[in-house]
Amino acid sequence: MYLADYHTHSRISPDGKFTMAQMAQAALDKGFQEICFTDHVEPINWGETTLCPLPYNWEPLRREFAAAQAEMGDQITMRLGIELDAMFDIDHTMKVLQGAPEFDFVIGSVHMLSREKMGGLDLYFFQPENEEQAHAGIRDYLDQVRQFAQWDGPYNVLGHLTLPLRYLNELRGFHLTFDAYEKEVEEIFRSLIERGRGIELNTNRGNDPLPGEKWLKMYRRLGGEIITLGSDAHDTANIGCAIRERQELLKQCGFEKFCTFEKMKPIWHKL
Ligand SMILES: [Zn+2]
Repeated sequence: MYLADYHTHSRISPDGKFTMAQMAQAALDKGFQEICFTDHVEPINWGETTLCPLPYNWEPLRREFAAAQAEMGDQITMRLGIELDAMFDIDHTMKVLQGAPEFDFVIGSVHMLSREKMGGLDLYFFQPENEEQAHAGIRDYLDQVRQFAQWDGPYNVLGHLTLPLRYLNELRGFHLTFDAYEKEVEEIFRSLIERGRGIELNTNRGNDPLPGEKWLKMYRRLGGEIITLGSDAHDTANIGCAIRERQELLKQCGFEKFCTFEKMKPIWHKL
């Protein structure tokens, strides 16, 4: 079993605290052959809805990765990626990416509700009072993801589809699903597949995977093959969490292989 964690946040992310070397060491200790760092990159200042200054300062990321390479050597394969959230302002995002290092892998994620209707509210802070409001938020989110999936931007996989469920069910006490949105999800998958992109199975640190079994099967049925597995760990404890189990889930959903990436090109591994 080839073990790779393709969604991890080091201290380069505003909500991370460990060095890349520490994260890589944790992966190695857990028997992983590979880790990809996917720190957050967004067109806005963290926790705000103001555009970040340009030119973007890529030096901390470059330095951190170089330091991890120097410290870890070839004990574990390390790839440099980012988790890119672009929908708030795509033009500004493209300017942010000027001068970026060459990435192995980019997760494209939507973390915010629409700027037009919901003020760009981060899903983490979305506190609907009832199911009706929660569903309005989910519909808005799916519309953002649809537009994102149709954007020919520089990313390889769509991050954690069904992200609103993480917050609504785990933090706000709802018991919601995406079952009412089969048509919308199918359109998103078709857009990704047509453009040669994939999705990630976000193990959600051992909680319900994002997306779940039903959607993984739909993606596969539509011809989707490109898929990565990532823990979304923001600390060393969660590195690799539930990746082994979710490889099994992928097999049950009809997948025979999964991907890692080098220089934005997929490398296939048998499940
Ligand atoms: Zn994310």
